[in-house]
Parts: sequence; C-alpha cells; structure tokens
Amino acid sequence: MTANPAPPPVCPQCGQNDMVRRVSNLVQDEPGSPLAQKLAAPRSPRPAAVLGCATSFFATMVSISAAILATGLTELTSMAPRTGLLFGVRDTSVFTGIITFLFVFVGVHAMFVWRQARASRFFRRAFTAWHQASERWQQLHYCHRCDGVFLPGQSSLTPVDQVQMLLYARRPSQPAASPANAPTSAEGG
Ligand SMILES: [Zn+2]
Repeated sequence: MTANPAPPPVCPQCGQNDMVRRVSNLVQDEPGSPLAQKLAAPRSPRPAAVLGCATSFFATMVSISAAILATGLTELTSMAPRTGLLFGVRDTSVFTGIITFLFVFVGVHAMFVWRQARASRFFRRAFTAWHQASERWQQLHYCHRCDGVFLPGQSSLTPVDQVQMLLYARRPSQPAASPANAPTSAEGG
C-alpha cells in the first residue's frame, strides 16, 4: 500500500482533476468492467521457441533422407566398375552419401539458427516496445468526465479507443512539443 499525497494531474481537456484516476488503480479496482478491459495493461510478448531436440531430430531425418537419395543417385549414374563394394554399393556412392549427410545436417541447423536469431531479434524489439508501453501505462490517467486518457504533462486528451496508439507511439506528445509533431489526437468534439 502506497499512500499517494500528491493530487492527480489535471485533465488537459476539462482542466480539472476531481474526476481523474490513475489507470492502473482503476483497472485493479474493477478488473471486469468494459473500461478496465479497454485500459488493460499492455501484454508482454512471448519469447521465441528455443532450439531443441526436435530440431536436431528433424535435421537428422532430413540429412539421412538426402544422404540415401544422394547415394542412390550416385550409384545409378556412376559408370565406375562395381569393385570396392561397401554395403552393396560402390564406395564412391557411400562417400557421396556421407558428404551429403554432413552438408545437409549443417545446412538445416544453420537455417534453424538463422531463424532463431531472427525471431529473437523480433522478440527483443517487441519486448522493448512493450517495456516502454508498460512504463507509459503506469503513468496513464483517466478522466471520467471527458472519457479519455492522458499522460501527466500532455497537452491533449486521447480517446479510450486509441489508448494502444498512445502507449505504443514512438514518442508521446510532450508538453512543450509543437502540435504539428503530435500524433493523431481528438481535438474536442
Ligand atoms: Zn476531463
């Protein structure tokens, strides 16, 4: 429990703070209400799946299939006499199969590692955006009279429906910022 002696910030639209509440308190007090659902805290992104046994198993299966195919093809197309037989096929075919296995195995793994790196890059970006949105959400206030939200010091009120836009905006309109730079906001109405 934190007693907050500071009065809530003034609503930029009606210029009063008697109907202003911190959104985090509002959501906590009435979690089921439609308003609380609209103003719910930003949800954290899910992390990318980790490379696991399934990947290695998949890579092994693909590699073995490719190796068998390569061995068979080499055996069929090879003109060399069937002298050095290994497992019933020419040793050159076996050699081709082993090389194919190694290349495909490494290749499939490389592909998965690349996909993983890309996914975690996306996740990092999403996580950063979410973190910023969460911090902004903690500062978010709601005016019951005007049915809109705002960040302390902001010069305009944002409709409840556009709260996500406000939370995830690259840069929220700053108190001193010129209105030309501000993102779309309701201008009375
Ligand atoms: Zn107001």
